[in-house]
Amino acid sequence: MKITLLSASIIASSILFSSCSDSSHSNEENSNNEKVERKSPNDRQVDRFADIQVLRYDIQGFDKLSLNQKKLVYFLAQAGLAGRDINYDQNNPYNLKIRKALENMIANYEGDKTSDDWYLFETYAKQVWFANGIHHHYGMDKMLPKCSKEYFEEVMDATNTKLDAETMDVIFNPNVAMKRKNKDSNVDMIVASANGFYGKGVTQKMAEEFYAAKTDKNDPRPVEHGLNSTLILKDGKIYEDVWKSGGKYGKAIDKIIYWLEQAVPVAENKDQKAAIEKLIEYYKTGDLKTWDEYNILWAKSTQGDIDWINGFIEVYGDALGKRANFESIVQITDFEASKQMQVVAQNAQWFEDNSPLMPEHKKKKVKGVSYKVVQVASESGDASPSTPIGVNLPNNNWIRQEYGSKSVSLGNIIAAYDKAGGPGMTKEFAHDQEEIDRAEKYGYLAGKLHTALHEVVGHASGQINPGVGQPSETMKNYASTLEEARADLVGLYYIMDNKLVELGLIPSLEVGKAEYDGYIRNGMLTQLQRLEIGKNVEEEHMQNRQLVASWVIEKGKKDNVIERIERNGKIYYNINDYNKLRVLFGDLLREIQRIKSEGDYKAGKNLVETYGVKVDKAVHQQVLDRVAPLDIAPYSGFVNPVFVPVMDAQNNIIDIKIENNMNFVEQMLYYGKTYGILE
Ligand SMILES: [Zn+2]
Repeated sequence: MKITLLSASIIASSILFSSCSDSSHSNEENSNNEKVERKSPNDRQVDRFADIQVLRYDIQGFDKLSLNQKKLVYFLAQAGLAGRDINYDQNNPYNLKIRKALENMIANYEGDKTSDDWYLFETYAKQVWFANGIHHHYGMDKMLPKCSKEYFEEVMDATNTKLDAETMDVIFNPNVAMKRKNKDSNVDMIVASANGFYGKGVTQKMAEEFYAAKTDKNDPRPVEHGLNSTLILKDGKIYEDVWKSGGKYGKAIDKIIYWLEQAVPVAENKDQKAAIEKLIEYYKTGDLKTWDEYNILWAKSTQGDIDWINGFIEVYGDALGKRANFESIVQITDFEASKQMQVVAQNAQWFEDNSPLMPEHKKKKVKGVSYKVVQVASESGDASPSTPIGVNLPNNNWIRQEYGSKSVSLGNIIAAYDKAGGPGMTKEFAHDQEEIDRAEKYGYLAGKLHTALHEVVGHASGQINPGVGQPSETMKNYASTLEEARADLVGLYYIMDNKLVELGLIPSLEVGKAEYDGYIRNGMLTQLQRLEIGKNVEEEHMQNRQLVASWVIEKGKKDNVIERIERNGKIYYNINDYNKLRVLFGDLLREIQRIKSEGDYKAGKNLVETYGVKVDKAVHQQVLDRVAPLDIAPYSGFVNPVFVPVMDAQNNIIDIKIENNMNFVEQMLYYGKTYGILE
């Protein structure tokens, strides 16, 4: 599964972007009569258009790698980009044709590029690149060009671009190919979905029957049926057109294989080598049993500094949740963050022994949860330009249970988001300059460390009383909100502890104060921007943050621990006593652990319902009004650094250099030209 910014468990408040409100990408009418509102990137953005901002990420530690490691990164990145076209075709069979036409038009048009018409046309092209096709990457609705069809055709003529009438209809007719994935249970979800996963004539019923017949419910180790094929109807018979060398997408898959073969001799160790070789075998055969074998080898390969994701993996694009989009992420260990995690993990027992939990709820032997931070080196397919911020794989459940899984946080992506957020949100919602300065100076470190404590110590802490069932049974629908609150509170409690200064993890307790400021701001105010007006808080992480923040505010009232201030009609929260606040976090932690340990459903429900769910509509509206002028893009994505091999006279690679200066249009044209493999 992937962890996206919109569902992220822990994100510093400054990088919480606005909700995915559907209005931002609805198919608005051509607005020819209205003034065209142009967007332009600020100095932290590579590009800004429609509901999108494009950012850049840096790769830290690349120069610390050996030549072989650099080569490995380079070859794996190429193997990822070689599959880029596949993802376009999977999203819709017309996408490649349309993308190529748009690329030709953008690259060769010599007319006026300052006009509103051009701006609207270019925006459409950028949207298509960003979404890997004509449907919005998140909402999955078709995006219509906002320029007129006449203008579009004018640019086509001027650049000698040809598209048949059917394809033009797919672009401009609002009633054709409306949704990439349609999960409306009142329609045939396959027929109503415009993705390329199912051939003409295939219905939902046919597909469901086909897989019902294939699935053996008693198989303890089932393959992921349907994962790597298009389901087609031919001569009245239904069968899988498998994506493999010599099969569908074979031309692109052969390129992937070529680059993986280059990677084999520079693998860092035996386990890696075995995994890459198995992946090649899978691409050659398309056999899903081989895919499982590969995933086992990959899950066990944990020793190197380089890792990768490459394949047909996530099934979010298919209404039936079977077929997977191609994606690739190449990763390098984040050496600095990993050191931090290690220090936290090594001291997990100290944290447990010194926690405010009741003695009987403390673990005698606590083992830190393994959690790795990586630097992304290259992304492709479904993971680019829009990217997850964390990944937990493999997906096949029995492999996870028998062999474990790898959970990584994409550190440099999160850092880039944080930088792009800029000071706007903090300035608007912080109570005073001191708070703004502290957030600027320590906010990022604070967020990172809180995440580490939450993941490594928080989720590992505490024990359930003998005879009491698992929280999913005892706490039911409140289980994950309470569990997230518990993990958050462990982090909040320790981020103000001198032990962290002693361990060298923070320079001073100012880091903890920055986290407290941000946490209260977010829990009480800023996270409401992600919620539609009139709604209650439903998402578990949001519930947990509101619960924690409003509980400590209420309990600290008599000592004036946190003050609610209204100034010029705006609400602020000012923390007067950080040490007392820390005690309150400890109190709530002890109580939630008690609830979990004893299985006290009534108390758990009461906590969540009283503090975590209800929203004051006037406050909510105020938050939305204060966020609106900041023009925060709802969706973000990235251009990739480009790897350039340096050759000697005999054509041996002697070094790999990173170039990271392309703008979005340049990179998309470059990719189209370099990796445009499929028709
Ligand atoms: Zn968590």
